[in-house]
Amino acid sequence: MKKINLTELIKNSIIKKNGISLSEYMKMCMTHPKYGYYTKKYPIGFKGDFITSPEISQMFGELIGLWIVKVWMDHDKPSNFSLVELGPGNGTLMADILRATRNIPEFHKSLKITLVEISPALQKLQKKVLKNYQINWKNKLNKLPNIPTTIIANEFFDAFPIEQYIFKKSKWLEIIVSLKNFKNKNSNEFCFGLKKIAKPPDELSSLNNEENQIYEVSPEIKKNIIYLSKHLKKNRGACLIIDYGKNNNLGSTLQSIKNHKYSNPLENQGESDLTSLVNFRAIKDYAENYNLVVTDLVDQGDFLNTLGIQERFVALSENMEKEKIALHLSSLKRLIDKNQMGKLFKVIGIRNRNSLPLVGLEHK
Ligand code: SAH
Repeated sequence: MKKINLTELIKNSIIKKNGISLSEYMKMCMTHPKYGYYTKKYPIGFKGDFITSPEISQMFGELIGLWIVKVWMDHDKPSNFSLVELGPGNGTLMADILRATRNIPEFHKSLKITLVEISPALQKLQKKVLKNYQINWKNKLNKLPNIPTTIIANEFFDAFPIEQYIFKKSKWLEIIVSLKNFKNKNSNEFCFGLKKIAKPPDELSSLNNEENQIYEVSPEIKKNIIYLSKHLKKNRGACLIIDYGKNNNLGSTLQSIKNHKYSNPLENQGESDLTSLVNFRAIKDYAENYNLVVTDLVDQGDFLNTLGIQERFVALSENMEKEKIALHLSSLKRLIDKNQMGKLFKVIGIRNRNSLPLVGLEHK
């Protein structure tokens, strides 16, 4: 019998349904319970497909730790405080947050930590890295404890499946993933196709449509933002989202990365990282529906500078061996320089209307 793999599974689904939505394709590629990219790989780090800010320097997590302590203080130091991280990857960010804040015992004692991680392999790694802490793991965002909460998400939402739509000849069409040749049973070549739809998603129905314009929508991001907005509204607290993205839903932003290089998103299913640019405008709209304050987008470089990354850089340099300083400096630059991650990555905060402005995001 022929061994079934992810490509075959996707192909079968395409044949059965005469093409599948891009979001269904991405979901199977990224989080299929057996063959998905995140399910079976350790994708993050120098040996993986991509490197994230917490992996570049400990300064990133340390400053976010301070940001969280400030939110805790601004909520009158509650004795039970929920700290939630979405998509914690290798566990580095949470480890740095907890290490940087350990000399505030009252804060540590208050923490109820939840990590939301879909990948069993990464959960296992996180359990090892964070073995000294009491932590609750979940594979999706739901049922958080009803206490003041801070939710953080670094490079989480770019990993979410998206749908794409195009407006052609006064009609909405959905861009789907299909097979190049349905007749040839041995062909595994996928292609994009178009499917007529009765009604576009709500996000698109009010738009001034332009011929041949592609629009992106992520129902899964919407679901998560609505959950966390309701939760923050009810329990107070804040949310910090850091990602690469923009303030609209225009154009196709789907990309595929394998071994630090761009690749074809319709090849190497489960082996390459599929992402898209996060639409911060949509996140803002979803959360504002719950009467929350959503900050404007702030560049990662500006955010980290306001939190004191330069001072932290100097403090760490003082005890550093000479040979390590060059790497330390290049890590700083990578995080904050405009032509590196400093501008490409954006930060957005969400909070209750009656709580204090968020440091680094609201008062400069
Ligand atoms: N925040 C980390 C990792 C970013 S990669 C860092 O900055 O290094 C994205 C992370 O989100 C991974 O841990 C991945 O397994 C997780 N993830 C992706 N899709 C998810 C989903 N739908 N639900 C929960 N976790 C998910």
